[in-house]
Amino acid sequence: MNASPAILPFADPGAGYRALQPEIDAAVARALASGWYILGREGEAFEAEFAAWLGDQPGAPTMHAVGCANGTDAIMLILRGMGIGEGSTVVTVSHTAVATVAAIEMVGATPLLLDIDPDTYTMDPDELASVLADPPPGLPPIRAVIPVHIYGQAVDLGPIKAACDEAGVFLIEDCAQCHGAMLGGAKLGTIGHAAAFSLYPTKNLGALGDGGILATPDRELAARIGAIRQYGWKRRYISDLQGVNSRLDEVQAAILRVKLQHLDRQNDRRRQIAAAYDAALAGTALTPPARRPGAHHVFHLYVLRHPKRDEFMFSLKARGIGTGIHYPMPVHSQPAYAGRVPLGPANCAETARVAEEVFSLPMYPELTDEQVARVCEALSGL
Ligand SMILES: *Cc1c(COP(=O)(O)O)cnc(C)c1O
Repeated sequence: MNASPAILPFADPGAGYRALQPEIDAAVARALASGWYILGREGEAFEAEFAAWLGDQPGAPTMHAVGCANGTDAIMLILRGMGIGEGSTVVTVSHTAVATVAAIEMVGATPLLLDIDPDTYTMDPDELASVLADPPPGLPPIRAVIPVHIYGQAVDLGPIKAACDEAGVFLIEDCAQCHGAMLGGAKLGTIGHAAAFSLYPTKNLGALGDGGILATPDRELAARIGAIRQYGWKRRYISDLQGVNSRLDEVQAAILRVKLQHLDRQNDRRRQIAAAYDAALAGTALTPPARRPGAHHVFHLYVLRHPKRDEFMFSLKARGIGTGIHYPMPVHSQPAYAGRVPLGPANCAETARVAEEVFSLPMYPELTDEQVARVCEALSGL
């Protein structure tokens, strides 16, 4: 019998559970037995452990973390905590998960979408400097900038932070894809005024359900957001602030405490897999993903680019390898946003090209050496 092997899936969240099953099962049992299911000891411990892990580099500020329901809410809560809503413009990119833009609109602010650098797929600092110096007419004042560390790659934060500081606007890092990535020795998420992390199951740090966490060196901002996430309560049943309900539950927090212990090792495994893919691409028409100098890339996704991407995806599928596209349509072209959301002076031209050309290989730490070898063999045959 020569049965063709099943397609190697592009993502496998179940593998993330199975790899740590005894530890996760024990943590879930502990949370269930505690009799306390929302905003209790597990959540507090996870927030403290996450903040300590984020701020563990020499010279890092002391970080304060607040758990919430998902990564979209983490961005929304940061904006609300900063008092940003209707009558404010928030600058971000169109080449991102739609969640970044959705969160800006959730608070009533106007998103302004910029283009990206073609090699790193991250916000173009020159276009940002130009819109901060000379904002597009007719928009409310710019109050914040949200660059997205996409695929696990650091944004060019040096000039972006300098431009934000000069303009007096908040810098919020969208860290949904970059848990553990660094730039110039600093962990991403510790450089701006605040950072939002998704804990969706397939992210580098993922719950087994929805979850999110935000972090900031500003203790008062963290305390305000901590109230906003639960009806604006500082005291039980009394809303001092206009709030929402966006909480991280105890079962997910217990699971995340286990997974946080393994995150650095799992990021190393992602980097090892990326190095194997790089080597396998030598001599093909495909170029390995760029790494920003001075950055520590954590490969949430391993993304390749080619004008004939459909042919490559088809060939890989024929060789038993699943692929994905991140993302197939820029935010500014999607029906909910097209013609409505303002764009920067570059008109997101590079973003539009990238959406037609990128595709992603299987990338998760539980891939076995044998599975990685299968992908590499398929790649070297392209
Ligand atoms: C996943 C993601 C989000 C949103 O996170 P959810 O937990 O799905 O709400 C935001 N921004 C980026 C870049 C993401 O990849």
